[in-house]
Amino acid sequence: MKSTSFAKIFLLLFLFSAVIFPQVKNDHTLFQSSPIAALLNGVMNDNFTVGEITKHGDFGLGTFNGVDGEMIVLNGKVYRVDNTGKVSQPPKSEKTPFISVIYFHADTVIQLNKNLDFNEFDKYLDGKLQSKNLIYAVKITGEFKSVKTRSEAKQTVPYSNLAEVLKNQSVFNFKEIKGTMVGFRFPAYMNGVNIPGYHFHFLSDNKKSGGHTLDFVTDNVKVEIETVNKIEMNLPESKDFLETNFEKQPVPGL
Ligand SMILES: [Zn+2]
Repeated sequence: MKSTSFAKIFLLLFLFSAVIFPQVKNDHTLFQSSPIAALLNGVMNDNFTVGEITKHGDFGLGTFNGVDGEMIVLNGKVYRVDNTGKVSQPPKSEKTPFISVIYFHADTVIQLNKNLDFNEFDKYLDGKLQSKNLIYAVKITGEFKSVKTRSEAKQTVPYSNLAEVLKNQSVFNFKEIKGTMVGFRFPAYMNGVNIPGYHFHFLSDNKKSGGHTLDFVTDNVKVEIETVNKIEMNLPESKDFLETNFEKQPVPGL
């Protein structure tokens, strides 16, 4: 075969590979199924399904319709921690009023062999970030001296706001546990779209424990950070969302 033929074949293969392996290096898009202000104000049902989640990301957190437990999305799998502390994988037909997910690709990795609680960790990590005005996906993997989480029972209509629901939350305390914190840091100016500051959900390595993280103490962990450069958000079309008066109702805290 002539060298020109080789060149042609090479060129064709190159063009073909560009089609089947599109350039995604710079895509760090976070996806949300709704603004958190909806959930916080009692819009606790939507039609977004668990099956749709992994079309938008393999890492993240959320909850289920009726606030029926805490959601962790890790390595493309969706987990529910219910109000008894039990962890399960919900069916694809299960629905969610709120998720934040991303295809996780860390741009920064830090080994941390210190005992830092949630507050101390927040300050430590803030010191490592380029700016407080960007969104970051944060994954903490390894050994924790302690982890304190919560979950909550499924609500029935009429829904109150989330702050009311959380008055009856279940709290779980774990000691010397291996697992992963899945979470995000949102800037202050995004209040209502998401929760400003750090928000983590925990899942143990043995997939038997987890929940919304209230506190922790790190021991020997790897911290991975992805800087988000874009956010995509669905706006719910439910009657509850359309009729909520966000001008009158302030966004309650978590
Ligand atoms: Zn949470």
